[in-house]
Amino acid sequence: MQCSKCKEPAVISEPARCKKHFLADFEQKVKDTIERFQLLQKGQKIAVAASGGKDSLTIMVLLKKWYENVTAITIDEGIEGYRAKTMEDLQRVCKEQNIPLITKSYKDFTGYTLDEMLKKQKFHPCTICGTFRRHLISIASKEFDVLVTGHNADDEAQTILMNLLKGNTDIFPRNGPKTGVGAKGFTQRVKPLYFCTEKEVATFAFLNGFVSEFIECPNAPEGFRYLIRTVLNNHGTKETKQHILEQFLKMKETFPTKSVELPPCKNCGEPSARETCKTCEFLMVVQS
Ligand code: SF4
Ligand code: ZN
Repeated sequence: MQCSKCKEPAVISEPARCKKHFLADFEQKVKDTIERFQLLQKGQKIAVAASGGKDSLTIMVLLKKWYENVTAITIDEGIEGYRAKTMEDLQRVCKEQNIPLITKSYKDFTGYTLDEMLKKQKFHPCTICGTFRRHLISIASKEFDVLVTGHNADDEAQTILMNLLKGNTDIFPRNGPKTGVGAKGFTQRVKPLYFCTEKEVATFAFLNGFVSEFIECPNAPEGFRYLIRTVLNNHGTKETKQHILEQFLKMKETFPTKSVELPPCKNCGEPSARETCKTCEFLMVVQS
């Protein structure tokens, strides 16, 4: 296969691109997304939620190149055979790029690693893990103007389908490339990789040497997301995912644009739709 721009050997298909043209196109796509949705401004204090996987390393390095004031925030869940390797990649890239790294862990927050919590109680791993991660990142990002996440087009198309199938359409206004605009108590969240497919991000991260191998959390196959991802990858195409995102964005324009003002949780003070937030509820069970 040849690059359709220069006829050099292609490193990726759909469209066929050589290394040089793929890397240039990828960066331009991310820049276009930032511009289209006005995701970031020069001079902002930027935090990147970084797991050390391909997505977060890619966006972290690109933003450091374009914006300078970038800090990484990472959460150590305590997952045997997974976190140590991604943490190693994250620490290496942060050091190479001179990016400060803030680390929070479930062990420090709850007294237990995720593995220990799952041995102690019958939790669904991703439900408790996602709740604690959102809470810790939300606390750690308060001193920043904006929080960047590495969600890619595959992640976002999956999220839209998952919410639709579960009937969670009330949270649609909180999905999309820019969320939490003007919401009291939340740092605004943005997703510059919104239109980049998982394959494109993996290729970019691999060609730049950010990751040596792609490893996945051993709990991932237990989640509903895994099922939706398998269906989309086996029966959908790049265009299917793109189509889901563009149709969702069209639909989002019709949602009322009111800013959310949630009352504080009576235990931790974080904004919550319930009297006691989900994090505090889980914490009580874990520590009982
Ligand atoms: Fe946590 Fe589930 Fe993600 Fe694993 S797959 S890191 S358990 S949310
Ligand atoms: Zn709380």
